[in-house]
Amino acid sequence: MARVYNFSAGPATMPLPVLEEIQAELLDYKGSGMSVMEMSHRSKVFQQIADEAEADLRDLMGIPDNYKVLFIQGGATLQFSMIPMNLMKNGVADYIVTGAWSKKAATEAKKFGKVNVIATSADKNFSYIPDCSDLPIDDDADYVYICENETIHGTTYQTLPNTKGKILVSDQSSMFLSKPCNVSDYGMIYGGVQKNIGPAGISIVIIREDLIREDLAENTPVYMRYDTHANAGSMYNTPNCWAIYVCGKVFKYLKSIGGLEAMNKLNEEKAAILYDFLDNSKMFNGTVEKEVRSLMNVPFVTGDAEKDAAVVAATKAAGFDNLKGHKSVGGLRASIYNAMPIEGVKALVDFLKKYEEENA
Ligand SMILES: *Cc1c(COP(=O)(O)O)cnc(C)c1O
Repeated sequence: MARVYNFSAGPATMPLPVLEEIQAELLDYKGSGMSVMEMSHRSKVFQQIADEAEADLRDLMGIPDNYKVLFIQGGATLQFSMIPMNLMKNGVADYIVTGAWSKKAATEAKKFGKVNVIATSADKNFSYIPDCSDLPIDDDADYVYICENETIHGTTYQTLPNTKGKILVSDQSSMFLSKPCNVSDYGMIYGGVQKNIGPAGISIVIIREDLIREDLAENTPVYMRYDTHANAGSMYNTPNCWAIYVCGKVFKYLKSIGGLEAMNKLNEEKAAILYDFLDNSKMFNGTVEKEVRSLMNVPFVTGDAEKDAAVVAATKAAGFDNLKGHKSVGGLRASIYNAMPIEGVKALVDFLKKYEEENA
């Protein structure tokens, strides 16, 4: 077996102990005589898997009782539509556009109502987070929307926007469970799990109960209503049983290593190794304003597309995979999610240092 250091932005690397546990349970899950892939979602054994996954997530994040936890298929992208369909009461929402993902979300929301882009960092290719302390929040806005960590551009909010009393909706896909989170600061938090938690196939939605409405447009598809999922314990129809099972394992793993405080400490340590290198490098430059650099997604460039491509090829040959940057930023991007071991970051930096010396 030769596992590489996988710096993919998503689907992404997962904790090895979790993969090993899954492997051991694959053919016969705890004496059930079958794989989790094969069991009824209505069975006791699967219900227990789902219940434990939710309980462990609540425990990890300290989710208050008046928030529902939903496991919904369709990825984060489906939430771009479900959010306006369910949360727009006045038909108005304020979006802060700090990158490709919040831009997509705003574009989708426009199909359902009036969208105000109240701040954006588009003028500098989304390399910073605008000052959000005193934005022109619409009196009628049903919510304020952010993407808290922009996966492609590598920015992250250091402080949440002042929403002037409006509820905050946050896409945490690429930072989910990377650090402690005060859930009651938000109306809703959501994210696809394939970046920082588990396999592709579900989004986790954490939503304050009073925001789940029943008075939606008659023609709202049943799957697209939060009340459908909330009333059915996320099992209105067949859920993605496998993804729920694996995410549950990851929650237990995170608890075993000390929870989100411990995870954050390690993430800060890992990111510092890479950023220190970039700050001192003559060949590579980070593309993001220092104060808002992401702990999860680290884009960097040489300033020359051909050189960038050569570096990517060299890293791949040396056992570091998926470092090619997104086309809108270019260069390289190292996604160093929870499951990337610190040894992987150190090894990458050692490699890049050596590469720089040899190719100066
Ligand atoms: C990847 C990503 C998405 C899209 O996720 P899908 O599950 O593929 O729909 C949305 N938002 C952010 C921040 C992402 O990183």
